[in-house]
Amino acid sequence: MIDSHCHLHDCPDPQATLERARRAGVSGLLVVGTHPESWQRQRSLEGVALAFGLHPWWVGPDWRSDLARLDLTGASAVGEIGLDRLKPHFELQLEAFQAQLELARDHQLPVALHVVKAHEAALPHLDRVRGVMHSYSGSREQLKAFLERGLYISFSPAVLRGGKKVEGAVKSVPLERLLVETDSPYQTAEPADLPRVVAEVARLRGQDPLQVAAATEENGRRLFGIF
Ligand SMILES: [Zn+2]
Repeated sequence: MIDSHCHLHDCPDPQATLERARRAGVSGLLVVGTHPESWQRQRSLEGVALAFGLHPWWVGPDWRSDLARLDLTGASAVGEIGLDRLKPHFELQLEAFQAQLELARDHQLPVALHVVKAHEAALPHLDRVRGVMHSYSGSREQLKAFLERGLYISFSPAVLRGGKKVEGAVKSVPLERLLVETDSPYQTAEPADLPRVVAEVARLRGQDPLQVAAATEENGRRLFGIF
């Protein structure tokens, strides 16, 4: 299995956490960064793929000087980046988002997207990028627009809380665009929890968990070119 979005560097003991993930069958992890200090700590991890980006929660008036510190050497993706209507500085978020999409295009890297209550605002900027909508929370209708742009859709432990909207979305993603993640340590404790997400996504789709595990693993490899 591939955990397409986690923050291993924020887990209490990253090395032990990684070993538990491996024992749970998680063979690949994309470790996603959010701000300059996290990018530094990510660099000390071994055996995982890294993404670097300025998360919308960390975008403020100084976003340009923060972004100037972004080093994409060895990166498998740009992220996490995006728009979050529930947080301040939406106009600045949009500027930082556009700047980082441009970086991803220049470096020919996929993006890891965080979009909350801003799906309509994000859409027009997503041409000519490859990437994944992380912890998808939008409607089925919006989902169609993201799929049409070639994006992958990742489901997080939020699926374990249920709800009609997320269930509808889980069922509507073609298997070849599906990804799974833990978003640990935030939505669940650690990447070793991934099998629970896979099991619930499979149950909602009426598919075998092994099939979902294999397909999401292959999709992760294809999108990020790693693992
Ligand atoms: Zn995250």
